Amino acid sequence: MILLHYTGMRSGPDALARLRDPAAKVSAHYLVEEDGRVFALVPEARRAWHAGVSFWKGERDINAVSIGVELVNPGHDFGYRPFPPAQMNALIDLLDDIRARWTVSEARILGHSDVAPGRKQDPGELFDWKALAKAGHGLWVEPPSPPGAPLAKGDNGTGVFALQAGLTRLGYDCPPSGDYDDATATTITAFQRHWRPAVVDGVADGETRARLVHLLRAAAP
Ligand SMILES: [Zn+2]
Repeated sequence: MILLHYTGMRSGPDALARLRDPAAKVSAHYLVEEDGRVFALVPEARRAWHAGVSFWKGERDINAVSIGVELVNPGHDFGYRPFPPAQMNALIDLLDDIRARWTVSEARILGHSDVAPGRKQDPGELFDWKALAKAGHGLWVEPPSPPGAPLAKGDNGTGVFALQAGLTRLGYDCPPSGDYDDATATTITAFQRHWRPAVVDGVADGETRARLVHLLRAAAP
């Protein structure tokens, strides 16, 4: 798996110093600056500490199965802003390199918020997953959105159960119960940050559900 993050700190040098500080107990394999400079911090075959408590497709030890890439960006707390072209181009080149060495399927190029929706928002809705997919990395779909009433917090029934089952099949930690509870809304919010960034509100509207169905199709081996 390749897991993308933002640094969520005021500056790139601050983030680099923290990732290099053993006492901080956080690390990542790579850091990509906004100007496109790439810092290799941990050898790819070694474990880095970037995912924390997380889950994807039954796996909880995400650090054991992933390469972590930190993108310099102040994040939601310090002035979230778009990821500039130089940074995106450097990331694309880096992913080309990594994937020439390791077998990583498109469905396993993910954001931190995908594997830890309750704790993390990074890299967030300003990260251009669509452009990344166009460059050959990760999944993106834009199906025509079918009509249909949105599902939202408080709803329950077979529609909600099917939605949760779909999220679980894609990889999220969202056991089907049929109740659209807080955890389901949090998972939908994470899904939207990655795959439906125009509206990040935790409501499973027709567009969100259509994208999930098409992603499942695209992710199928
Ligand atoms: Zn992160």
